[in-house]
Amino acid sequence: GRHPTPQQAGPQAVPGVARILAVGSGKGGVGKSTVSSNLAVALARQGRRVGLLDADIYGPSQPRMMGVNQRPASPDGKTIIPLRAHGVTMMSIGLMLKEGDAVVWRGPMLMGALQQMLGQVTWGELDVLIVDLPPGTGDVQLTLCQRYQVTGAVVVSTPQDVALLDARKALKMFDMLKTPVLGLIENMSSFCCPQCGHESHIFGHGGVRAEAAALDLPFLGEIPISLDVRLAGDAGTPVAAGAGAVSDAYARIAARLVA
Ligand code: ADP
Repeated sequence: GRHPTPQQAGPQAVPGVARILAVGSGKGGVGKSTVSSNLAVALARQGRRVGLLDADIYGPSQPRMMGVNQRPASPDGKTIIPLRAHGVTMMSIGLMLKEGDAVVWRGPMLMGALQQMLGQVTWGELDVLIVDLPPGTGDVQLTLCQRYQVTGAVVVSTPQDVALLDARKALKMFDMLKTPVLGLIENMSSFCCPQCGHESHIFGHGGVRAEAAALDLPFLGEIPISLDVRLAGDAGTPVAAGAGAVSDAYARIAARLVA
């Protein structure tokens, strides 16, 4: 018959969550987590109710970047109470591990962990839930996009060719999973010397914009290499929480994602 059985019911929603935005990348180290935390904080400053789920099981960096480290409480042993930082409701797989623990998990365990973080965490009412994915095209991405109603994905890349090559694979994966790609973000697009003001294109410049144009996808914006971005991330207060040109750049990208 045409009535869906539970197996055929298709991707599920997370109750109370209006949009799930996945942030992915082809390679690690291109700044996906930094972008995720800054977009979350920028959206919160714009009055959105924002959640940030750190699903980067291989290198969960949101506890550090958002400045939280306490283990979330689970008073009833079933639901998990998320943490709050910089106006954002957050949860990280890293908070369930000890800092420095390595994760060596097989697919089914990863799926279980993701489902726990989406299903058992009391996210409450959210306009946006940002999911910081692991780099690449693995089990976490598949599970998220196949089992949940993901509104869209953004892909972060540096302008360097090797990063773009892998970003293309991530884009292809979202395409295959029928997850709409909302656009590409170029991170580390240029470096402006704070001493002399000279601008260097350390990883090249414009590569992500060109790639977006070639694939007919929106280019969402660029973030320069900046000492402030790195220091702020390490200190647990994303630059988007403060003022300045980089904070403004994140705010513009954030506004486009929920427009
Ligand atoms: P990924 O999540 O892609 O692995 P991260 O967000 O962890 O990457 O970033 C890797 C490193 O680069 C971190 O130390 C971070 O602080 C730094 N970083 C990211 N973006 C920038 C930037 N725009 N300027 C300077 N440092 C950055």
